[in-house]
Amino acid sequence: MNQDCRPSHIVIAGGGTAGWMAAAILSSFVHSGTRVTLVESDEIGTVGVGEATIPQINLYNQALGIDEDTFVRETQATYKLGIEFVDWHHLGSRYMHAFGEVGRDIGIVPFQHYWRRARSLGLAEELGHYSLNEIAARAGRMQRGPLKTTDVVPPMPYAFHFDAMLYAAFLRRFAEARGVMRVEGRIGTVTRDGEGGDVTGLTIEDGRMVAGDLFIDCSGFRGLLIEGALATGYDDWSNFLPCNRAMAVPCASGGGLTPYTRSTARAAGWQWRIPLQHRIGNGYVHCDAFTSEEEVRDTLLANLDGAPQAEPRMLRFTTGKRRKFWNRNVIALGLASGFMEPLESTSIHLIQSGLSRLLKMMPERDGSARVADEYNRQTTLEYDAIRDFLVLHYKATERDDTPFWRHCAAMPVPDSLAHKIELFREAGHIFRAADDLFTEVGWLQVLVGQGVIPQRHHPLVDAIEPDDLKSYMETWEALMQREAMQMPTHEQFLARHGAALAA
Ligand code: FAD
Repeated sequence: MNQDCRPSHIVIAGGGTAGWMAAAILSSFVHSGTRVTLVESDEIGTVGVGEATIPQINLYNQALGIDEDTFVRETQATYKLGIEFVDWHHLGSRYMHAFGEVGRDIGIVPFQHYWRRARSLGLAEELGHYSLNEIAARAGRMQRGPLKTTDVVPPMPYAFHFDAMLYAAFLRRFAEARGVMRVEGRIGTVTRDGEGGDVTGLTIEDGRMVAGDLFIDCSGFRGLLIEGALATGYDDWSNFLPCNRAMAVPCASGGGLTPYTRSTARAAGWQWRIPLQHRIGNGYVHCDAFTSEEEVRDTLLANLDGAPQAEPRMLRFTTGKRRKFWNRNVIALGLASGFMEPLESTSIHLIQSGLSRLLKMMPERDGSARVADEYNRQTTLEYDAIRDFLVLHYKATERDDTPFWRHCAAMPVPDSLAHKIELFREAGHIFRAADDLFTEVGWLQVLVGQGVIPQRHHPLVDAIEPDDLKSYMETWEALMQREAMQMPTHEQFLARHGAALAA
């Protein structure tokens, strides 16, 4: 560290999505006396997947001052209003975890209690009928900004699907234009200070040395610094999330740019479908104990919209997280920090929230262990909450048609999740913990979609006459339908905003 204990040289190891996201934000927000260098190896390459995001990505783009239409055009992006889950509860089932609100709370009583009573009286439709995002997504519509026909509903939140390689390249241009130095080369050794144990430099295989005083490990699953040099340790969560591989393949688009991600449950896992402007990203996330590579390949290739554009590629992973995300003077981000499958598109968000935490806690005094502990505590809580949300999708299934699904239905789950499921089942309550990325409405859609229906509703709801309840439900649905149907189609919207399509 330099005299005033601010890092004078931050070194980022790795230039995938994590590395370039870190470089772009640091180039804009660190002290002017701090240099930022990124080391990456074209020879090794990036994981190259990671194409679906959640609405928080907009905050990252806004922080950088990125023009949204330019970003959409340069990354071949499409808009995303939510995720559709097919065959997860039982074969033939279909629900959506759409972004944004579902219905409207009245007073202190959340919407789900009104919906539950109305549904039990035969006066309400499925939950998705009360979500603007879901109605628009299913109708293939997209719009941003204030709504046209009502001011009682907030604007639709949205995220993006984008090409991961183009995204990294886009951020690289941004970061290099703001002074980030890129060093091309394969890191051979990581040097540590003999006394204190901090990392002091990275030696490239050709002998060049990149010294620094704060290191961001974005080297992917390898975790070159956090694990390779510091042996931080890893918490393995395979007992809760058994999938350990994904076979990925892009395919040609068959037309129809759905503004949502689709996740279809398969015999030993699930398959993603992520529509981009120029192709569709697909992958089968699975557990190798319950299937073979051949079966995975056959299933994946049999369920594409168009011709495959490359050989299917197998990616191996162990679900879990590092015991510390910040260890000594190394902060791990992206795949180097841990991995949870992309069922709810959370990994890129975890990079972003790690960066935001890092900027808030950037060391001002020499190596405060307390600051690192706090960073680790907050990040662990965030990871735990996401893990529970993902496990819910597997645990609350009625599928028993394959050994994989029987295993998932029977597996023990974290106590925190068991409590959440039972609280909802017994009384319809959902309370969001401060560190939970997902809102009550997100939990609601997945709980109900996975067949967890409350046994009772809040007693205050009984004060409403059935006719009034019916009218409330119908009015809300009509409002959403009217709004969604006047929106442009997703294709029309793209043509106006970020149309690499037309080119
Ligand atoms: P990588 O892309 O692996 O990059 C590592 C970098 O380190 C590369 O530049 C490499 O060259 C460099 N490097 C490594 N070793 C060395 C060395 N010795 N010397 C020099 N350089 C080195 N996230 C989402 O948010 N949404 C999704 O839909 C999604 N889908 C996913 C699907 C799958 C199957 C997987 C595995 C992940 C998915 N993710 C998703 C996660 C997402 O891909 C990652 O969070 C993101 O790509 C960040 O990766 P990274 O930059 O950490 O690692």
